[in-house]
Amino acid sequence: MISAKGRIACQGAACAKAFEIKAPQKAQSTSDAYLSVDEELERLENGLARAKEELEALYQKALTDLGEEQAQIFEMQGMMLDDPDLADGMRDLVKKGAISASKAALLVGEEQARAFEALDDPYMKERALDVRDVSQRVSRAVEGASNVTISEPCIIVADDLTPSQTVAFDRKFILGMILRHGAMNSHAAILARTMNIPTLIGAQLPESGTLDGKMIALDAVHGVFYAEPTDEIISEVQTLKDNFHVRRLRLLGLRGKASITPQGHVIKTYANIGRPDDVEMVLENDAEGIGLFRSEFLFLERDDFPSENEQYKAYSKVAQALNGKLVVIRTLDIGADKQAHYFNLPHEENPALGMRAIRICLTRPQIFKTQLRAIFRASACGNVAMMFPMITCPEEVLDCLKICDEVEEELKAQNIAYKRPQIGIMIETPAAVLLASELAKLVDFFSVGTNDLLQYTAALDRQNQDLGKFYNPHHKALLKSLEIIVKAAHDNGIWAGICGELGGDLSLTDYFIELGFDELSVTPGLILELREKILLSKAICQNPLVNK
Ligand code: PEP
Ligand code: MG
Repeated sequence: MISAKGRIACQGAACAKAFEIKAPQKAQSTSDAYLSVDEELERLENGLARAKEELEALYQKALTDLGEEQAQIFEMQGMMLDDPDLADGMRDLVKKGAISASKAALLVGEEQARAFEALDDPYMKERALDVRDVSQRVSRAVEGASNVTISEPCIIVADDLTPSQTVAFDRKFILGMILRHGAMNSHAAILARTMNIPTLIGAQLPESGTLDGKMIALDAVHGVFYAEPTDEIISEVQTLKDNFHVRRLRLLGLRGKASITPQGHVIKTYANIGRPDDVEMVLENDAEGIGLFRSEFLFLERDDFPSENEQYKAYSKVAQALNGKLVVIRTLDIGADKQAHYFNLPHEENPALGMRAIRICLTRPQIFKTQLRAIFRASACGNVAMMFPMITCPEEVLDCLKICDEVEEELKAQNIAYKRPQIGIMIETPAAVLLASELAKLVDFFSVGTNDLLQYTAALDRQNQDLGKFYNPHHKALLKSLEIIVKAAHDNGIWAGICGELGGDLSLTDYFIELGFDELSVTPGLILELREKILLSKAICQNPLVNK
């Protein structure tokens, strides 16, 4: 059995065989054979006309099934075919000779798609998928090739899906989707939500081999899927699916309610996000804030450092969307399992114990300062806090604060709008637990990273799936650490939350309430379940300092 994670684009659950859709055709993969220029031109015109007809049919289907707004995607794609840059570009290339109409369609489409991808605006970037979709349609139409048809219930597994693929499928056969790429506001994700198809994007699909035809259990409530699952997992996911809709309707009724126990203990339910467009799920599930905004997305899957402005745009977009609710941005946590080649980090025998997170920021202050400037500026657009990962001692915090002061001075001197955010630290090393009282005197809040804290406390590699019974997320040493952390925070008048996976473990919610945690930050899909658990909890907070 393989199990892997993904980001939830549409909640739900399903069990079915995988139907794998291969990556979109690349220009090089089309046949190199070609006829005369005139014949290829004629084939191109026929292909363009057929593509136009297909798009018109898709528009009508989307209009009936999904409504005007979604149908407009195909109207817009039809208009792309009328755009001289695209169709004339294909014609011009064919006229140059020595190229088939179908290959010319793909090459011109690819060139334009890359131009869109190079733009900063995320909306314009997304248009790259539309151009590829349209030019591939023309290419297929020239070749007389048919589109993929699905005629039995399945879970689609693909790198990404074009809007037309998503709409053309017969909804009744698509029980779920697992996409390697995709963004929350991609057409595929939006359409998945409109059609209510449980979907994971950014899924960790295996790099090699195929899942096609294999049984899949998709849990798009907790953001995981299983390939070739055990009978037990199938029955769990099946139960989740059966209960999901009834339960979801009930949970949606909790939107707008504060997360407070019957005994009056307030414990905020915040969300963890990894990209700005995750905000959609945050708002849909009525999180009271964002407790962990992992900023690595800006640094991964690219070839160079993101600029201050690029970072500012991403942070301020989230701060504005949250409209006054708190957004905690975690500063760069690259290294260990998250590598970006342009950092040129040397090979390490023990990367989890090596140059990662705050250690990189403190040894390469220019990278850190650029990020801090962006966060300080974004803080002027909303309610922003930031926290430093992998702290082990007060000296590191003091070094960070010194750099924060420098950044503040610079922004002030340059007359750039900014606001100093609340500053906290993640408690995710045993050293930080032992020094929690000292650390609490330096910052505004603690957020416990239980994923790393468990790894470092119990010497359990979080990447190793073979540790079996030794991997105990409820390890007593971890639970004991939580007690020390929250006490140190409250004794020193600061708040404490949990943003690691354990925060969403509902079997421990009562324990967290008893300890007096002020905040739990979990995957957006879990917010309402957690809120329900808090609203019904009989636990009594043991800390007299809390909520007084
Ligand atoms: C953690 O370690 O618990 C945490 C939230 O950080 P990450 O999982 O990103 O390392
Ligand atoms: Mg961590």
